[in-house]
Amino acid sequence: MKACRLCGEKMITPLLIPQDKRIYHYCTDCYLIFVDTVYHLDKEKEKQILTNRNQSIERQEYVNYISQVIKLTLPHITEEEIGLDYGCGPTPTLTYLLKKENITCFNNDYNFGFTHPYKQYDFIFAIECLEKFKEPNVEFDFLLDHLKIGGILGLMTNTYPEKESFRHWHKRQDPTHVSFYHQRTLDYFMSSKGLELVDSDSDKVYVFRKKVGEPHLEKKNLKMENLGS
Ligand SMILES: [Zn+2]
Repeated sequence: MKACRLCGEKMITPLLIPQDKRIYHYCTDCYLIFVDTVYHLDKEKEKQILTNRNQSIERQEYVNYISQVIKLTLPHITEEEIGLDYGCGPTPTLTYLLKKENITCFNNDYNFGFTHPYKQYDFIFAIECLEKFKEPNVEFDFLLDHLKIGGILGLMTNTYPEKESFRHWHKRQDPTHVSFYHQRTLDYFMSSKGLELVDSDSDKVYVFRKKVGEPHLEKKNLKMENLGS
């Protein structure tokens, strides 16, 4: 039986859109909509599509777009801190823009050969990469493992309005997008991963802080204790 790829809820329902080639599933608990694994692109095809997109420093429209997350996140980070652009893609742009603000940020995208030097960072940006998460729960935990307690997470993602209007929502048509988030999904993400919202444009930019005593770390410690006994 299929379960939600984020919250694990078993009450999921198929979401069929006649004009789409892919089948979606809808979680009745956290409202995550996710593409059936049968329709996931293989890594090479996905890389090819992403490489062909012109999302770089040379495209002003894209620079303006990601500047929105920088604007809301900057007040919460300092020049002494070090960050990570998680899922930066083939042509990293954010790190160049942050450099102009005297902010140090490393690129991270294993698919495109971007590795980074530290285990944890003071802040992490994740710009439009959440939609590509095939296993959102696993990916979120992996991402948050790289963030220090008290650290800042700047997210940029478009939330879908309602299940009923999802079929008319153009963002679903990107073949590299396999996970779609409702506002309720982000609320679940925030509470289940021990985050607090510190700023948002109420639309697509969300700035979170990783709280002390973060649940999934506590869970992990518990597991480690069990292993040791
Ligand atoms: Zn769910």
